Amino acid sequence: MRTCYLFSMPILPGATVGILGGGQLGRMLAMAARPLGYNVSALDPDPSCAARFVLNHLHTAPFHDVAEAAALARECAVVTVEIEKVAVAALEAAAQHAPVRPGPEVLAVIQDRAAQKRWLMGHGFPLGAYREARSAEEIASSIQALGGPCIVKAAREGYDGKGQARASTPSDAEAAWQAIGARPCVVERALHLEAECSVLVARRPGGQVAVYPPSLNVHVNGVLECCVLPGPLPTKTVGEATEIARGIAEALRIEGVLVVELFLTAGGALYVNELAPRPHNSYHTADVACATSQFEQAIRAVCDLPLGETQVVRPTALFNLLGDLWAGDSPLCIDRALALPGVKLNLYGKRVARPGRKMGHLLAEADTPEEALARVRAAARALGVR
Ligand code: ADP
Ligand code: MG
Repeated sequence: MRTCYLFSMPILPGATVGILGGGQLGRMLAMAARPLGYNVSALDPDPSCAARFVLNHLHTAPFHDVAEAAALARECAVVTVEIEKVAVAALEAAAQHAPVRPGPEVLAVIQDRAAQKRWLMGHGFPLGAYREARSAEEIASSIQALGGPCIVKAAREGYDGKGQARASTPSDAEAAWQAIGARPCVVERALHLEAECSVLVARRPGGQVAVYPPSLNVHVNGVLECCVLPGPLPTKTVGEATEIARGIAEALRIEGVLVVELFLTAGGALYVNELAPRPHNSYHTADVACATSQFEQAIRAVCDLPLGETQVVRPTALFNLLGDLWAGDSPLCIDRALALPGVKLNLYGKRVARPGRKMGHLLAEADTPEEALARVRAAARALGVR
């Protein structure tokens, strides 16, 4: 009997997958698309972006370039994103020529923190206390209303803690407003965090969903330092985090992958921190930990192929390598790090190492998550991380 593809239209090998963005996530998406038999084109403003060596074609253009986004889509069977700040008009222009997954309407909600929080709140997902603000005065009254130390976050274009400022009292409002570039923002009550975690969900256009076990994430100064899969978290937390993430992916009807970042408070409550409609730093561990990497899963999802297995077959931890590591005169001790058991290195091929810039990561596998974390930290020290 012939299969009826009424709800399923797989994009078959030989086709070209387009990626809006050519950073490290785009590079790894492209590398996962290759063994599945796809060609890959991307659009990025930087001609020496991390993905440049693994693409058939790089369109060098800004993320608001409507004509180039359309040109990319014309040569592709499907277009996806590795970064959420692509202009909605560019996504809509691409969608005239090929399916864009996740779609412009999903990106429009996620790329604005205020819109994202409104959507989450409206759909009944748990959020920490926050206010929206459009001036220093509104920040001051928000801090007053929230009643304690706050984090002011620009509504658009923040990443790795950029576009954020701490503000303890209303008198800090003006400095915070200036620090974030005097832009519309959200003011969040600073929470006492017991832990942070994230959950990756993949969803196909027809609705098939696959959820990964939660990752436990450790941030330093707003940047992910290390994480481990599976996150050693209470069973109740694992269950709740999984259901929240699945619920968000289904309510958004996302096509592709979605990562939900969550805060766990000392009292055991979970709050959604933010959403990412793309592969995520905290799931590089799945390259080793799981039968299906997040990148292969994203390609399967956007090409409408059956999703792969998501269970952990080997606990794995990650340590991010930031540009600071390249600042000194001494070379990285890569041989010492790779001599340790179970350790792997992934460098992103970025030309310029700026402080705080993600340049690569280490992975370490082990029998338990705790041991994997200890190993990856030892590897980072061996490499030269202080
Ligand atoms: P980014 O887009 O830069 O990842 P996030 O909103 O995720 O921005 O913030 C980065 C990190 O800052 C979080 O992972 C967490 O460690 C810390 N943080 C952010 N908001 C809060 C909050 N309301 N309370 C406590 N810590 C927070
Ligand atoms: Mg974050």
